[in-house]
Amino acid sequence: MNKTDLTDFSLSQLTDFVESLGLPTYRGSQIFAWLYRPNITDFSQMTDLTKDLRETLATRASFDWPEIADVERSKDGTVKYGFKLKDNNYIESVLIPEEGRNTLCVSSQVGCAMGCEFCLTGGMGFKRNLSPGEIVGQVVRVRNWLHDDEDTELVLNNLVFMGMGEPLANFDNLLVALEILTYQRGLNFSDRRITVSTCGLVPKIKELGQKTRVNLAVSLHSVDDSARSKLMPINNKYPVAELLEACKNFPMPKRKRIMFEYILIKDLNDSISDAEILAERLKDIPCKINLLPYNETSALSYQRPSDKKIELFQKTLWKAGYTVLVRSSRGSDISAACGQLAGKKSS
Ligand code: SAH
Ligand code: SF4
Repeated sequence: MNKTDLTDFSLSQLTDFVESLGLPTYRGSQIFAWLYRPNITDFSQMTDLTKDLRETLATRASFDWPEIADVERSKDGTVKYGFKLKDNNYIESVLIPEEGRNTLCVSSQVGCAMGCEFCLTGGMGFKRNLSPGEIVGQVVRVRNWLHDDEDTELVLNNLVFMGMGEPLANFDNLLVALEILTYQRGLNFSDRRITVSTCGLVPKIKELGQKTRVNLAVSLHSVDDSARSKLMPINNKYPVAELLEACKNFPMPKRKRIMFEYILIKDLNDSISDAEILAERLKDIPCKINLLPYNETSALSYQRPSDKKIELFQKTLWKAGYTVLVRSSRGSDISAACGQLAGKKSS
């Protein structure tokens, strides 16, 4: 008999499954809570279920999250995890430990269909969406890995959907994953500690705002339509004005501010006048700006601007009153920095 994989289920879906086995509804939330406790690998560990029920579950269901296949540690403390999926595809997540906050950067797809010029994941093309269990599984496995590692006391407390793929292009699975991640008896992450990053799928930004309370990050990179369309083909479909309008209308209570990500690429979008125009276009949107100096890769010819240029760009935005951070390229020695995840072991 084919076993049902419980890792793809929200609580209500798990409850439906439990009811289909002729069991009372409350068993759904009981089993759900067990699944997300650290290091539970077998139904036999679910000690407040009857022995009969544990045996039934073992014959009818399974919960196998993707295994960690590789671990690479950077000199700066960043850790990159490679996961082998059941169909032999390969995805990556990156743990970024920082003062007071430990972030896991998770993937939402194998590859990406959005084709941004500067991004190695985009260069892979699109292979497939991750299931909810494959998204949540990255968090479960890394949390367990940290739990088992005697050399660390790190606890995961922040999630960003900035790994491989475009999360809003895998919207339904993203929603189920977010439900599991934020549910108190699931992984119990606060919405405020989860950020979903998008290249700008306007209708889905609206839906994300209506259906969740997570933070929004938008990969902007330019506010000039012709420059942005060259970098990011999605801009032909949803140009800058529409994207900024969707950001302006994004419901903010509790979320405070949208994060705009802006890659700085030498001689392309890094001039003082680019910064001034950016400041002007964002002025009605409560936001902070994250500058990402381009992470160079041998496969592409884009270059990172000089430190001086980066500083000038940042100062121009500061003077206009913005909160601006320059994101350091953590983990670049293990190809774990933004845009360097290429899933090279996919087969
Ligand atoms: N698809 C989503 C999330 C994944 S990409 C998105 O595009 O927002 C995460 C971030 O890394 C994006 O802001 C992306 O533009 C940026 N990025 C991609 N390649 C990069 C590179 N080579 N250097 C710096 N940032 C890069
Ligand atoms: Fe996809 Fe984001 Fe890379 Fe663009 S930057 S190709 S949307 S992963």
